[in-house]
Amino acid sequence: MNIHEYQAKELFSQFGISVPAGKAVQSADAFEEAIDSVGSGKIVVKSQIHAGGRGKGTFTTGYKGGVKVVDTKEEALEAANAMLGNTLVTHQTGPAGREVKTIYFTEASDIEKEYYLAILLDRDSSKPVIIASTEGGMDIEEVAEKTPEKITKVLIDPATGIMPHHKRAIAFGLGFSAKEQLKQLDKLLSGLYKFFWDKDCSMVEINPLITTPAGDIMALDAKVNFDSNALYRHPDIVTLRDLGEEDEKEVKASEYNLSYIALDGNIACLVNGAGLAMSTMDIIKHFGGNPANFLDVGGGANEEQVTEAFRIILSDPNVEGILVNIFGGIMSCKTIANGIIAAAKNVEMTVPLVVRLEGNEVAEGKQLLADSGLALTPADSLADAAQKIVELAKK
Ligand code: ADP
Ligand code: MG
Repeated sequence: MNIHEYQAKELFSQFGISVPAGKAVQSADAFEEAIDSVGSGKIVVKSQIHAGGRGKGTFTTGYKGGVKVVDTKEEALEAANAMLGNTLVTHQTGPAGREVKTIYFTEASDIEKEYYLAILLDRDSSKPVIIASTEGGMDIEEVAEKTPEKITKVLIDPATGIMPHHKRAIAFGLGFSAKEQLKQLDKLLSGLYKFFWDKDCSMVEINPLITTPAGDIMALDAKVNFDSNALYRHPDIVTLRDLGEEDEKEVKASEYNLSYIALDGNIACLVNGAGLAMSTMDIIKHFGGNPANFLDVGGGANEEQVTEAFRIILSDPNVEGILVNIFGGIMSCKTIANGIIAAAKNVEMTVPLVVRLEGNEVAEGKQLLADSGLALTPADSLADAAQKIVELAKK
C-alpha cells in the first residue's frame, strides 16, 4: 500500500526525521490560508499523487512541473490552481497520468547538496538494505546503471537492527565527516530504520535528502510503501489509504477477496491459484494473445465471488474474450460452473467465453454448463483453451 508524500512526512516527523513544515489541502478555497500558514518567503507547491517524477512531469493542460518552487503568494496560488483537478503525467504514471486531488505547500529549503537514501527489502539476502547515493534528485535506476560506484549498499541483519558500523559506512559513502552532521545522520538513520521496521514497510525512499548551507540534514521528498500482508497490524496506517489513487477494478476486487491486477491485453483470465494464473497468462502469450488481467479467485471461491469477478473483467473495455481456467482442488468444479451460470444471469456476457475445468467433480461441472444453454466454448486442455480463446478474440 502506498501513501502520499505529505502523509509520509507526517510519519517521518513522528520518528524524528527532519522535514520542511507544510500543509496539505484538497480545495482551492483553502489555498490562501495554507500558504499563509507555511510562511511568507519562498515556498514549494507540490502535487500529491502516488507516483514519482512529479517535478519533471507535465499536465495534460500543457502546464509544466508538478512541483514548483515560487517566491510569492501570488505565484503559489497560480501554481496550485494550475495543478489541482488536473492530470499530471510523469514517467511513473504512464501516459494516462493521475488527477491531482491534493496540493501540499511546504517551506522551501536552501539546498547545499542533494542525496538519495532508501531502505528496502533485499530479496537475495532476505535482509533490509540501506541504499545511499551522492546523486540525489536523480533516478536511482539510472545512477545504478551509469555510475554504480556512487551507490553505497549496507545490509542490515534483522536480528541486530541498525548498528553504528552501518551508519559509519553510509556516512563514508555520502562523504559526511563534520561532527555535527554525523550526529544528525545518526539520528536520521536510526529514525528511518525504526520507521521501516516498526511499520512493516517494504520501502522508504528519500529523494532528495538534502544538506543545507547551515549544515542541517532534511528529507525534501518521501515515498513509502507498506507490506500489504502486514496491514492488519497497523490500523493507523490503513486509515491513510487513498482509494482514489488505486485502480477502481483492483479496489473492487479486493473488497471481494479476489487478487486482481489489470494488464493491457485483450484476453481476460479467470483462474484459481496464483501459479495457475501465471501459467495461463504464459500460455495465452504463447499462442499469440495478450492477457488483459491477472485474476486469482482463490482456492475456495463462492458463486458471489465468481459473479463479481466476471463483472470486474467485463467492465474493462479492452476485453475481447474470457478464458476461465479452473482446477478443482478444494473447490468443486460445480461451484465454478454454478458461478458462471449465475454470473451470466446477472452480467451480460458481451464477449466470447472459453471454459476449461479439471479436477474435483469435473464431470458434474461440465454437465451443468452443457445443460445451462449458455453460449460458451468448452475446452479440454490448457493449450486447447488458450488456442480457442485467442482465435475467438481475433474475430
Ligand atoms: P519528485 O521526485 O516527484 O519530482 P520532489 O519532491 O523530489 O518530487 O521534488 C522535485 C525537486 O524539487 C527536488 O529534487 C528538489 O530539488 C525540489 N524541491 C522539492 N521540495 C523542495 C523544498 N521543500 N525546498 C526546495 N526544493 C525542493
Ligand atoms: Mg523526489
